[in-house]
Amino acid sequence: MKGKVAELFESIQGEGLYFGEKQFFVRFFGCNLSCKFCDTKLNYFKEYEPGELFSIIKQSRDGFRSVSFTGGEPLLQKDFLKEILKLTKAENLHNYLETNGTLPEALEEVIDYIDIIAMDLKLPSSTGMGNFWEKHARFLNIASRKEVFLKTVISMGTKDSDLKEMIKLLKSTNPALTLVLQPDYFQSDIALTKRIEKFRDMITQENIATCIIPQMHKIIGAP
Ligand code: SF4
Repeated sequence: MKGKVAELFESIQGEGLYFGEKQFFVRFFGCNLSCKFCDTKLNYFKEYEPGELFSIIKQSRDGFRSVSFTGGEPLLQKDFLKEILKLTKAENLHNYLETNGTLPEALEEVIDYIDIIAMDLKLPSSTGMGNFWEKHARFLNIASRKEVFLKTVISMGTKDSDLKEMIKLLKSTNPALTLVLQPDYFQSDIALTKRIEKFRDMITQENIATCIIPQMHKIIGAP
């Protein structure tokens, strides 16, 4: 079995609650969504057998204890992902999954081998696509068996009604989670800062832990 991988590299985590942690990154090729703000539109890949990819990770091991499986959307290649997760777990590496949170059936198949899930919540008014509330709810119920935190991109077009729907979703699934608000990097200005602070206050009033963390790798120039 071969998997399509767009990039392999070592860097620091640039988003969310693990910002700054040194990790090895496996960027899977392909995504099932097309978010308006996407900056990872990949058009190339290399194919690897799981054992071949694992050898590269092992040989590169240099001060990192965690492997970030990112994309694109890694769960689109769930069978390949599962095989590589088994190998890295047996090596006592932490398996960190970055996912758009829309493929609950695929998550169910690999959840036993994952340590941490960084799950996106895709708000229709931010992404320019339809809504994924039902899929996100099922995904979150499965993800909550492991350590999980949520990220969502806020842009000038993000609607209050989506925020309210997201709060409803969290309350009915796992209200104890931390939600990271990410300003849309392409729109960063004072007006967006004010908007995101307003959203943070709306969420905090509902007793949901939330914080604002920009996509730091873009700011500090990390890959
Ligand atoms: S889910 Fe991520 S990789 Fe896929 S289109 Fe959206 S931002 Fe891009």
